[in-house]
Amino acid sequence: MDKQTVESPDRRGDHFFAFPGQRTDRWRALHTATRNWARGSTDQATVRAALDELSGYEGFFAYPGRELLATLRGRIDGNQSGAAAGLAQRISESILTRSYKGDLGDWQSAEIVAEAPPDLNTPTMARGGRHRPYFEMMVVAPGAASRGESIIAQTRRLRRPEDSFIYETVPVASFEEAICAAILNPAILAVTIYEGFDHQAAADLPVLRDFLATAGLDAAHVAGDDLPLSLAGALKRIRPELDLYLLSDRNVERIAGDPRAAGLRRVLYAVEELLELHLCVLEGIDDRFRTPFFDNLKKYAMRPISTFHALPIARGKSVFKSDWIRDMGEFYGLNIFLAESSATTGGLDSLLEPTGNIKMAQEMAARAFGADHVFFVTNGTSTSNKMVHQALVAPGDIVLLDRNCHKSHHYGLVLAGGQPLYIDAFPMTEYSMYGAVPLSSIKKALLDLKAEGRLDRAKMVDLTNCTFDGHIYNTRRVMEECLAIKPDLIFLWDEAWFGFARWSPFLRPRTAMGAAEAISAWMKDPASVDAYEAQQKELGKNPSAAKLMETRLIPDPRQIRMRVYQTNSTHKSMSALRQGSMLLVRDVDFASVEAQFHEAVFTHASTSPNQQLIASLDVARRQMELEGYGLVANAIEIALDIRKEVNAHPVISKYFRVLSASEMIPAEYRQTGFSDFLTPGTDWEDQVRSMHEDEFCLDPTRITLVCGTAGFDGTQFKKMMADDYDIQFNKTSRNSVLLQSNINNTRSDVANLIRVLLEISNKIERDLAANGENGRAAFAARVKSLMTDVPDLPNFSEFHEAFRWDAGKKTPEGDMRSAFYSAYYAEGCEYLPLDSPDVDKRLKSGPAMISANFVIPYPPGFPIMVPGQVISKETIDFMRKLDVKEIHGFERAKGLKLIRPDHAKDHIRK
Ligand SMILES: *Cc1c(COP(=O)(O)O)cnc(C)c1O
Repeated sequence: MDKQTVESPDRRGDHFFAFPGQRTDRWRALHTATRNWARGSTDQATVRAALDELSGYEGFFAYPGRELLATLRGRIDGNQSGAAAGLAQRISESILTRSYKGDLGDWQSAEIVAEAPPDLNTPTMARGGRHRPYFEMMVVAPGAASRGESIIAQTRRLRRPEDSFIYETVPVASFEEAICAAILNPAILAVTIYEGFDHQAAADLPVLRDFLATAGLDAAHVAGDDLPLSLAGALKRIRPELDLYLLSDRNVERIAGDPRAAGLRRVLYAVEELLELHLCVLEGIDDRFRTPFFDNLKKYAMRPISTFHALPIARGKSVFKSDWIRDMGEFYGLNIFLAESSATTGGLDSLLEPTGNIKMAQEMAARAFGADHVFFVTNGTSTSNKMVHQALVAPGDIVLLDRNCHKSHHYGLVLAGGQPLYIDAFPMTEYSMYGAVPLSSIKKALLDLKAEGRLDRAKMVDLTNCTFDGHIYNTRRVMEECLAIKPDLIFLWDEAWFGFARWSPFLRPRTAMGAAEAISAWMKDPASVDAYEAQQKELGKNPSAAKLMETRLIPDPRQIRMRVYQTNSTHKSMSALRQGSMLLVRDVDFASVEAQFHEAVFTHASTSPNQQLIASLDVARRQMELEGYGLVANAIEIALDIRKEVNAHPVISKYFRVLSASEMIPAEYRQTGFSDFLTPGTDWEDQVRSMHEDEFCLDPTRITLVCGTAGFDGTQFKKMMADDYDIQFNKTSRNSVLLQSNINNTRSDVANLIRVLLEISNKIERDLAANGENGRAAFAARVKSLMTDVPDLPNFSEFHEAFRWDAGKKTPEGDMRSAFYSAYYAEGCEYLPLDSPDVDKRLKSGPAMISANFVIPYPPGFPIMVPGQVISKETIDFMRKLDVKEIHGFERAKGLKLIRPDHAKDHIRK
């Protein structure tokens, strides 16, 4: 690498996540500069500066490589502006379109071709007519800067026509550069580490150094240590999916004994054949590329099979031979019918009791997601959640639950007979939505249970991470403090939206699996016992609840059981077909509940699971393990782009606004004072510290766009965008819509969205100008009604005493299941129209109104009443103000369905 300052990655907070786009931008800037130079509108010095600006980073990428860069520099230095512009354009376009991955020509220039004939070993997809996926391997070796070309040439010579994949090499010479390359270059999928390299890069990497210090990876922490193993550990922390190889001439057994060596895929003697390494590297990629179920399904589909089982469309014969439904066959194509089967033979395996390739596919998913076990679920996370409830919760067990969570949890508890102890999330009244549940509420509920002697019945804490609107928990802290109060609590983290987060080093520590891994590692550290003992001493005997509330509790590492479950809608954030979901398990006591899980699978899974769904789960895992890191980085970058473009645009920002982290999360939950990704002066370390310490963070990919200020309610705006502009949004609130970026978005999507928002903003401006004083007053009134006259959000009131069992005074859990079934007896129920004066009378002087069922308005989409709940004035006020059409569980004509208080106890069977 050239010796110069590498300001990488950019210090600004919004650039924290965003690199791929910046690189293409830099190349585009260089191309523009060379073109202007060729036209005479700029000078050589400007072009040189643009080249210098980007060359500091280019050593971390295989393409365009040293030679091509040198050629470009040569043309610039030699004043050949036209030739420089041509080459800069070619490289820039190749990086943008990624054509270098398959096109031999992209790697060459006229000069290089003249000196040496084309090297047939440069990557090409077309060789042998096969598409060969391309990746890059980083080689960390002393003196790699000077030996680089020979390392590259050496590995190219190892290529064989029968290789399934093709790779180029990125040589780096230091710990710092290796970390930098792993962060910046998502194409790196394998790393070979030679011994003897330095910690510090030759070039100046100030920002990276700060970052490494924040992460405890600076020279002061790792120097003098075993550098290769420290590097292996650090790389695994950043990108756990990377294959690491160590080439050593030391005693291999000694290395293998070091716990950090667990992250190495293989240790080879440096003297061993390079071919051996080459084969290992390809095998490592294949290990992620293989999709056992999908691979077999493709084979199965190609076999001539006569079917005499029930599934007429299998093989497509009932479709393609029909005069009447042939268009279905033409639309979907033959393969989907060839791949349909109701058989579990022919190697297709059974989802209900997998023993073959589904089992293998699940094990590979467990590896990828950092779990011990994975269940594939083909009925959505709605079903995954019910399975967890059924498997872990027995009737009467108490589950601490966010009242605002997805309805599958509420229904799961009705089915399981568990008693929900609802804890409320902090309200965001002005946007008619809820945030997440504060840790203090969770701790208080547990301490109250303890005070009343019922802590033993508290089985599980069940939270949504991240919430629909993007609030991310401090999963580690929540689990640690809860376990300090009850060491065997089980956690269910509903990460329906957040499955992708595994592939971002910044988000991963805040996922269920990431935190569980960190706590497990902490438990093994002898210093943890000391920390626990020290805190116990300070707390003294029988500390008061107040004292426990204000202390950041440390659990006893010798006592706690890590029992963590995660569910995710793979289809919501990765390339799985709709309803594809996974249930991840990291439970040290799983053996004791495994049989219950199988019962839960038998209860909830269809006996005819869809083959394509299972295959797509297998494939989604493959994709994330091979390109998830880059795709997620891109999704985050896109989100930050949208945030920036909307809020900085002079016209759009008059009517629309993306809510910042500080608007989504009250200051008391942002202990580090972090305000937003885009706040001027926010940098890397602020962001890392916030992710590490704050009680809640905001997932940047979940973007709340306020539209009430443009005079639209959420539903209306969402419909208009879909109908008139073909732009689909996620969910709505009274005055906002939720946008989400994911692994499929491109920068063109951002441009299109901004164009449309500008068009709408311009129209508002024109209308306001044309409609005079009255029009402006009407607009202002509309905005005020949407933004200011918002209904208060009703907190959970209480369960009626008939459904409270032995519950004490302080804790609100209830027997929702009995209430739910009470509603099955018509004689015990009554209806009251919402606007009836009887409602107000009963609110005032009783008897209490007891909800017979769930009432869930969309939006906001959480149950404002659950079976057995006493209906409060706040709930009635909210219902009466509510102007949404869709309210599940409520028929306006009939009114509120209530359980008659005098009948409430009739049907309870304890
Ligand atoms: C969507 C969602 C679910 C249900 O997932 P499906 O895959 O749609 O069944 C569960 N929990 C949360 C938080 C969700 O957003």
